[in-house]
Amino acid sequence: MAVFARQHKVDDWDQRLISQQVALVLGVGGIGSNVSVHLCRLGIRKLILVDNDVVDITNLNRQILFNKDDVGRRKVDAASDGLRHHLLDTELQAIHFDAVEQWETVVKLAQQSTVIFNCIDYGEYFDYAVVSLCTSLSLPYITASSYGHTSIVECYPPLAVPQNGPCWACNNSPAEISLLQQITPDKIQGLKSISFLPKDTGMPVTQEVGSSILSCGTASQLATASFINSLHGNKIPHWTQLLLCNMEMFGYSVEPSPNCLICAAAPKYSAQTVAIYFGTSMVAMSAAEGSVYSYKTDCVTNPASPDLFAVAKSRYSPTSIAKCDSLLYPALPRADLLAKFSEDDVSPLPDAVATPLIKTETGSCAALRSGQRSAIIPTTTGCYRLKGCGHYLDDEELQLRLPYPSFSISSIEGTESSEIRGCSFPHTSINELYMCDVVGKSLNGINYSVGNLPLGMWQYQIKEDIYPEVSKSCSIFETLGEKRASTHLLVGMEMLLPLLFPSLEPDDLLELFPAGRLVETDNRSLGVQPTWQACCCKESVPINLCSIDKLCEEGPNEVPSNLPSQLIGEWCRSAYRLRQCLPMTEPKTKSLCALLYWRVGREIGAIARCLKEQGINWGYYFDHSPALPHCNAHPNNLVVIAPHKNSGGQLLAPVDFDLAFTKEGFFSPYTGEYDDSLFWSWMNTGEQELERALAGDQANSGVAERDSISLSPAHDALRWGLRDTLLCGYRSAMSNEEDQWPTKEISTVISDLVHLALIMTSNQNT
Ligand SMILES: [Zn+2]
Repeated sequence: MAVFARQHKVDDWDQRLISQQVALVLGVGGIGSNVSVHLCRLGIRKLILVDNDVVDITNLNRQILFNKDDVGRRKVDAASDGLRHHLLDTELQAIHFDAVEQWETVVKLAQQSTVIFNCIDYGEYFDYAVVSLCTSLSLPYITASSYGHTSIVECYPPLAVPQNGPCWACNNSPAEISLLQQITPDKIQGLKSISFLPKDTGMPVTQEVGSSILSCGTASQLATASFINSLHGNKIPHWTQLLLCNMEMFGYSVEPSPNCLICAAAPKYSAQTVAIYFGTSMVAMSAAEGSVYSYKTDCVTNPASPDLFAVAKSRYSPTSIAKCDSLLYPALPRADLLAKFSEDDVSPLPDAVATPLIKTETGSCAALRSGQRSAIIPTTTGCYRLKGCGHYLDDEELQLRLPYPSFSISSIEGTESSEIRGCSFPHTSINELYMCDVVGKSLNGINYSVGNLPLGMWQYQIKEDIYPEVSKSCSIFETLGEKRASTHLLVGMEMLLPLLFPSLEPDDLLELFPAGRLVETDNRSLGVQPTWQACCCKESVPINLCSIDKLCEEGPNEVPSNLPSQLIGEWCRSAYRLRQCLPMTEPKTKSLCALLYWRVGREIGAIARCLKEQGINWGYYFDHSPALPHCNAHPNNLVVIAPHKNSGGQLLAPVDFDLAFTKEGFFSPYTGEYDDSLFWSWMNTGEQELERALAGDQANSGVAERDSISLSPAHDALRWGLRDTLLCGYRSAMSNEEDQWPTKEISTVISDLVHLALIMTSNQNT
C-alpha cells in the first residue's frame, strides 16, 4: 500500500507482520488515546477500544482524541470520531463497558486479539488480571504510565515457550496471595467479573503530580515502539523510563521469578502452538457410559501362559456374533498381556479424561480431530490423545450411518468378514499402553521420548449397542504432537522449496548428482531419479547436501495465498525471523533445509536403532491377509513434538504401538509356535520398509498428498537431494556414527522452518 511506502523503507521492517495485528486497548485515557493514534497510523488490522468513562475537561491537555465539544460524552464515542482522521487501513471497534464488572467481555475480545495494551488506571490487581489473561493466551502485555516529567513503559512479549517467564508479575510483588490465586492463567478466562479485586485507593498520580502531553505522549510512543520492535523479534528492556527534564533514559530486563504465581500456572502450550502442532479442526464429544482404568507400569505383566496364547491365536479366525456372521478382531502374533487395573484408583488421570467420552454430532466437549477414530483434548496442562473414541463421520457418511452413531461395521476388502470401526479393543488398548511404556523406557535411555505417554483406558458400556458382546475400549495418552513427519513436515518442506529457493536453476543441482542418477523427464529435460528408486533398490550412494557449500536459501518473502487466517500472523513472524537468520552465520553457507533433513534422518535413525536393539517390532507382520502386511514403521507414525518447557532438543517422537510386539509371547500365526527366524525376518522387513518410506516411496507410508505438489525441475531435483540427505542421516544414526552436522546451536532457526512447513500443511488431516 502506497500509504505505508515510507515505513516499508525502514530497515528490517515487515509491514505484513504489522498488518496482521489486532490490538485490544483497555482504557482510552492519556496513554490509550495516544497509543490508538499510533497503531492506526502504523496500519494494524484492527483496533478494539474499551472504556466506560466520559470525557472530562481536565483530560483535554493530553488525551489527543478529544476536543472541548466532547466534554461529557462517552470516551469511546468521542474517540471513534477523533480517530476518523487517523484510520488509514485499520478496522475500528469501540465499546463502552466496565472491564472489571464485565470481565468476560474482555476475555472474549482478548481471544480475538494479538496484543493487549493495558491503559486502565484501576490498580495493581487489575493489572495482574490482564497479565494473567495475556499469559493464558500467549499475548504480548504492554503498559505505560506518565507523571510529571517521567514516562515509563513496560513491555512483555509472549513467551516462545510458556512457563519460562518472565512476565510483568515476576517484577511486582503483590500483597494478597489469596487474591492472586483466584486469577491465575488457568482460571482467568473462566471469570465473569473481577470486581472482587480491590481498586487502588488514594489520589491518582496524575492529579497529585500532574501530567502533560509531553510525558504522556512520549510514554505512548515508547509503548507502541516497544510493541512493534518486540514483534520483529528485537530484544528490548522489559521496563524503560525516560526523564524528560534531563532526557535520561534507563531500562532493564526482568529475570523470570521462580515464585511467580502467574508463570507457574501458564499453559503448557500456547494457543498458537496448539493450532500449529495439534491442529484446528474440531469434533464434538459427549459423556459416555463405561469404566475407567488408569495405567501404571506394574499393572501389566507378560507371563505368556497357555491360556493367553490360545486367546491371541483365536483372533486369527473370524468370530460369529449376533447380527454379524463373520467378525474379525485385530490379531497380534503375541500372547495376550495380563492387565490388573485397580478400578478405584484413577487418581493419576487428568480431569479432562477422567470420565469416558465419545464422539457425537453435537456435544459439550470440543476436541481436535485426529484420524478416523481418534481425537485430542487440548488443556492447559497438556494435550490428551483418545484412541478409539468413536468413528469420525463426514457429512455424507452421517446420512448413511448405522443405528449406533459412533461405531460402525464395515466389510474387510478381499474377505467375507467385517470389522468394527471407531474403537480400540481391550487387547489392543492394553498392548499399546504397555508397548508405549516399554518403548518410552528404551528411548529414555538415549535421551529421547516416545510420542504417546500411556495414561489409561475407558471400556465403554453403551445402552442400545447393537454389538454388546464386543468389548470396545479407548486408550488414553498424553501426546507430544499430532502433525506427522511425512504428511506435514516433509510434504510442507517440499511445498516451501520454491519460496525458500526462488532463483534455483536445474544446473545448480544436477552436477551434484552422479551421472547415473540423471534421467530424462516427461518434457525431455534432465531430472533426478527419486531417492527410493536409486538408493534402496540399487547400491547407489545417496548425496548429502550438508556437505555442499554453495546451496543457500533466501528465506520466504511471499505469504502463500491458501493459509488458514488464524495462522497467517504466525507465518509472518516465523518467515521474518528466518529471513533475519539467512544466510546463516554458523555453520556458514550451509543450507538450512539440508541440515533439517539430516536432523530428521538422524533422529529417526536413532529411534529405529534403539527399537531394533531392544527387539521391539513397531508392528510389521501379516495377520488376516497374506497379501497385505501391517506396517506401522513409517514416517507418518512419528509426530513433530510441540515445543514446551521440557521438550529439549528432540524434534520427532514415535507413536502408534497398538500392534507392536517383542519376542516375549511371540508366536508364528502359521505354526502357532515360537519362531525366531520369522520374528527377525519381520523385524528386518519392517526396517527396510521404514528406510524405503524415508527415501520417499509412498507405498505403505500412508502419504498420497505429494502427488498434488508439482515442482519445477530444479526444485524437484532439490527435493530428491534433500531426501538423499535424510537417508544419509538415517543410515549414519542406524550405524551409530557420530553426528557430523549437529543442529543443536541452530535449533531456534530450525524450529521456525518447521513452523512454516507445518503451517503450509495445516489443512491436511491425519
Ligand atoms: Zn511471571
